[in-house]
Amino acid sequence: MIAGTLNISEIFHSIQGESSFSGWPCAFIRLAGCGHGCLGCDTTYTEHETINLETEEIIRQAVAYKAPCIEVTGGEPLLQPAVYPLMERLCDLGHTVLLETGGFLSVDEVDPRVHKIIDIKAPSSGVCDQNNPENIQLALAASPAHRKSFEFKMVLGCRRDYEWAKALLLEHRLVDSFTVMMGVMFGKLEPQELSRWILSDRLNVRMQLQLHKYIWPPEMRGV
Ligand code: SF4
Repeated sequence: MIAGTLNISEIFHSIQGESSFSGWPCAFIRLAGCGHGCLGCDTTYTEHETINLETEEIIRQAVAYKAPCIEVTGGEPLLQPAVYPLMERLCDLGHTVLLETGGFLSVDEVDPRVHKIIDIKAPSSGVCDQNNPENIQLALAASPAHRKSFEFKMVLGCRRDYEWAKALLLEHRLVDSFTVMMGVMFGKLEPQELSRWILSDRLNVRMQLQLHKYIWPPEMRGV
């Protein structure tokens, strides 16, 4: 039993759509609030219509879906200090726990058992100067066993984004040690085009589509 409450946007059951866990049924705990202001953010609704829930109640609802993984997402989940004991408790209970974070806060205090999916925002997000460089340094400094718990995600909207992303990956040699998921901003860049660039450059990232946006209407919530 752990004390504390979190401001929650929604808890739901869906198909994981944007990571190396893509395709798995997953219970999502979406924390409220972010305020980072990325252009094209598809979860601005997390700023409103929120509810305060006890940590144990959040765990009860998420676990009830009996999914093979539980993802803590947002909004920006790391803005709420009580998220740390929540993730730790879920790990203690034996669950595979994913964290999806916008990448402007450090993941330093996250339980090492949590699989960290860290966004690296590209220029057309409007906030790429706010990517936290500490996250790449933490990943590079991690032990070989712990490295597996880091993965990076880049969502691109144009060729300029792609060139920027490629330069960053090569500078830090991220694809040599980590899974890097690269995808398109829905409706902004054609997947075929990005595929062509990746193949032509022999860039060993994993191409991904936002699976949930192809299964359900792109604007639909709780999926
Ligand atoms: S970090 Fe994520 S939740 Fe926050 S504004 Fe950007 S896209 Fe939206």
